[in-house]
Parts: sequence; structure tokens; C-alpha cells
Amino acid sequence: MTKPENFPSQPAFSLCVYCGSRPGARPQYSQAAEAVGKWIAAHGGQLIYGGGRNGLMGVVADTCLAAGGRVVGIIPEALRAREWAHTGCTELHIVETMAERKQMMIAKADAFLALPGGIGTMEEMFEAWTLSTLGYQTKPVGLLNLQGYFDGLLAQLRHCGAEGFLSEAQRDALQVGENPATLCEALVDSGASRP
Ligand code: AMP
Repeated sequence: MTKPENFPSQPAFSLCVYCGSRPGARPQYSQAAEAVGKWIAAHGGQLIYGGGRNGLMGVVADTCLAAGGRVVGIIPEALRAREWAHTGCTELHIVETMAERKQMMIAKADAFLALPGGIGTMEEMFEAWTLSTLGYQTKPVGLLNLQGYFDGLLAQLRHCGAEGFLSEAQRDALQVGENPATLCEALVDSGASRP
């Protein structure tokens, strides 16, 4: 993808990022979140995320905003204080429920990317991925296996396949990469070219 000459009033794409509400134990996690935030801004895109200021969520949003990108945060009222809702977002949507939050994130995105994170990150990534395997949504889903963080999960998925519980088509519906910019580009390009 090339950077647009003049940023249009409409973003070039909307990338939904799922990631930890904690920073994780290694500086490389925050560095990857920064790389994703910068990549979205540099390509005239818009970040869709959970609307918090904590952990990697805050890092990706702050970096995207600082680089001139648009950021859309979506947070349930009940988590507003706990996740320290990011009032600097270009748009901050306060919703009632977690289900509403996930649904709005899915509706607004052209593609989904999961960075290292905890159970919330995995829950959201699995929902986007399973919905795509069932045909409820057709947008690409990616997993950034930074520093081997998801090696254990990927081994479990291979085990699911070997034991007959996961088809090749289902597995192939999840794009796995190790480089933030390369994976962002692949997801946004496949999101733009889907039928
Ligand atoms: P975590 O990866 O556990 O740090 O959580 C990352 C984000 O996922 C946080 O904004 C959580 O509020 C969110 N989250 C946690 N559980 C769920 C859930 N069941 N559905 C949607 N989002 C969730």
C-alpha cells in the first residue's frame, strides 16, 4: 500500500485492533503496538479499538493519534472508569454491553488484527475468526505472533486440526504473521479486495 497524497476526509480503511489492556512483560509488545498505530496513520487509515487508555490498547491509540491518524474507541459504560476511557479519541462511543461493543467494532472494521493480549483479546479475535468461518462476516482476521507469544495457541490449533476438530479452510481463515507492517498490509489489502 502507498500513502495517499492527500488524506481524504474518509479514511482509506478501518483496521480493528484487539490487544492487551496490560502492557505485557516485554518492551517488544509496546513497540509492536506503536508500529501498528503508526502504520495505520501513515496509510490514511482509521483505528477501531476498545476505547481504553490502558496497556497496549492505549499505546496503539496514542501512537496512531500522535501520527495524525483517526481513532474510534468503543467502550461499555461499565468499563469506562476501569479501562480509563480514552477521551482523546477522534470518536468515542459509549455502549451498554460487551456484546454491543464487539458488534460495533466488527461492523465498523474492514479487517481485524490481534496483537499479544490476554483472555479479552483472544475472546474478541476468536469471535471475529469464528464468525468468518461461519460466513457471518467476510473480513480478514490476523494474529500477530510477536516473539512467539502465540506459539502455544498455534500448537493447540494444529492439535485441533490433527484430531479432526478444525478444517484446513477454517485454519486458513486466520492470517498469522510475525511482522506488524507486513501483516497490516496483507490484512488491509485482502479486506479491500474481498468480493
Ligand atoms: P485483555 O486481553 O484481557 O487485556 O482484554 C483486552 C480487551 O478485551 C479489554 O478491553 C477487555 O475489556 C476486552 N474484553 C474482555 N473480555 C471480553 C469479552 N467477553 N468480550 C469482549 N471484550 C472483552
